[in-house]
Amino acid sequence: PMIMSDMEDRTMFIRHEMDTIVDHLLFHAQKSPHKTAFIILEDSQELEKRISYQELKTKVEALAVYLYDKQLPGKRVLLVYQGVSDFIISFLACQYAGVIPVPVSYIRGGRQFGRLMNVMNDARVSAILCTHETVVYLEKELHNFLHVNEIIVISTDNITGVYKGKESKRPSGNGIALIQYTSGSTDQPKGVVITHENLISNQLLIRNVFGCTSHSVILSWLPFHHDMGLIGNLLHTIYIGCTCVLMPPFSFMQTPGKWLKAISGYKVTHSGGPNFAYDLCVEKVPEEELGQLDLSSWKTAYNGSEPVHYDTIQRFSDYYKRCGFNISAFYPCYGLAEATLLVAGVKKASVPDVVHIRKEPAADGTISIAEPYSIGSQAVVSCGAVAEGVSLKIISAGNQKECGELEEGEICIAGTGVTSGYWNRSNDDVFYEHGDQLFLRTGDLGFVYKGELFVHGRLKEMLNVRGQNIYPYDIERMVASLDTAIEENGVAVFCNDASDEEVVLVAEIRRTAIKDLDTARIIMQIDQSVTGLSGILLSDVVLVKPLGILRTTSGKLQRLRCRDNYQQRQLSVIASKRSLSSGKL
Ligand code: ATP
Ligand code: MG
Repeated sequence: PMIMSDMEDRTMFIRHEMDTIVDHLLFHAQKSPHKTAFIILEDSQELEKRISYQELKTKVEALAVYLYDKQLPGKRVLLVYQGVSDFIISFLACQYAGVIPVPVSYIRGGRQFGRLMNVMNDARVSAILCTHETVVYLEKELHNFLHVNEIIVISTDNITGVYKGKESKRPSGNGIALIQYTSGSTDQPKGVVITHENLISNQLLIRNVFGCTSHSVILSWLPFHHDMGLIGNLLHTIYIGCTCVLMPPFSFMQTPGKWLKAISGYKVTHSGGPNFAYDLCVEKVPEEELGQLDLSSWKTAYNGSEPVHYDTIQRFSDYYKRCGFNISAFYPCYGLAEATLLVAGVKKASVPDVVHIRKEPAADGTISIAEPYSIGSQAVVSCGAVAEGVSLKIISAGNQKECGELEEGEICIAGTGVTSGYWNRSNDDVFYEHGDQLFLRTGDLGFVYKGELFVHGRLKEMLNVRGQNIYPYDIERMVASLDTAIEENGVAVFCNDASDEEVVLVAEIRRTAIKDLDTARIIMQIDQSVTGLSGILLSDVVLVKPLGILRTTSGKLQRLRCRDNYQQRQLSVIASKRSLSSGKL
């Protein structure tokens, strides 16, 4: 038989049929069938399960046949899984058969089901795919909601079948690959329609920025219903044909040190998460454990999905230097579900760029560079250059004009990876028209400086006090560092009313600190420090119980939901400035 070189081989595939993620799976299964695609770490890390590209292909094909039989191609299905390998096989089988998956997070429980129902109704799914243990539970819950009787629940584990290659046509580039719900940081999650073309073109950008090769080892603990875990880790592994170690998200949340232990043990090259994950690793991993860690294989530690803090990068690098971690491994990046994932990222191994700017932008959005660490200055980390293949415009929030360098405005993007709209919603206000191109409005504020993008925050979360724009993030970080009783990443600041005159701060108290908490002292300390830092007089300071701050299922702070709960008196309050001053406590 003719032996083609890898390059020729891949080029042929690319030219003819590498336009869905399944094409990549089939390519790698043919080229390196025995290579491990995924190493799955179960709850206790001693147990690992490996799945090769060939095994994966066989399982995916068997399930795809089943999905054809159930006449699901072209329909939307909810993916409700707790187990990692069940999810992977199911997701890829949907891609194979042209079924449109809608991944959601899932933990059993009443409130969780309400969330599933919202997505189910919005996406108008025909079926729920899950494992056999979950079927009974879901069917029972569904029966409580009479109007969704027509939704079938299908268990996808233990399915055997053989794909003969002629069951049905495989999907092509412009069909819908998946509906990705946004995190819901600021509003109800929105269903972003992602086509195969969006998906594959963004995969190429990710590869160009992060430089994964077939020798790379990725590690992920990020949930799969979130774009960073799904697109950036799981599907990127298959796109590249490398190996990926998968850890359940709660393993990391419970014991952050497990992430680093696995990086050390599996000689991981690519792994990352939101900024708070790096903070947790400094805070929760004791020095005694550092001796066992070798982090020298870790070449790309990406940091995205939330504002990237320079002090986090520095602290983490200092702490883990002795384990062979180099600050140049940090890759700050910016992305969102609407772009499939990546928009901008630092491309080379170097110390992340940072600029010091005057804290509050001028009313017209002009940013001024300040002396590093001078009073009233703030460090902003660069998210690198905009990835090749993405067009970016910064549009002034006031007059809708295009901003120049060092002018802050809304980040708007276009490109083949960018969605053409949300599912089941009016997309009227989503795009900004420029020439003959439509730019998606991200709702994020940022500016460009020396060809790099600096993301500054979300428009909706900005505080506007007496005509001045103030970001909540610095205030929150300062308050979190005031006292060990306050949870790191557990402070939310928001405006309480439409006129923006009242600013409220909610701080979550750590479980271990509740017993002997001096609430009056902490409230006073917070109050005075915030006025000192920003000149804002807080109208209320609320201390809440552990987990009292609302977060998305991917761990992002929901400031606006905190505001709603504050207004509806639904926060689990320990003490507040208002009740102290009115003598109610
Ligand atoms: P929702 O759209 O439902 O309110 P979300 O925007 O948090 O939720 P995602 O698409 O998962 O949902 O997250 C993308 C958002 O995360 C970006 O729009 C931005 O606000 C934030 N983000 C991502 N990377 C960065 C970064 N490097 N710096 C600051 N913010 C970031
Ligand atoms: Mg968003």
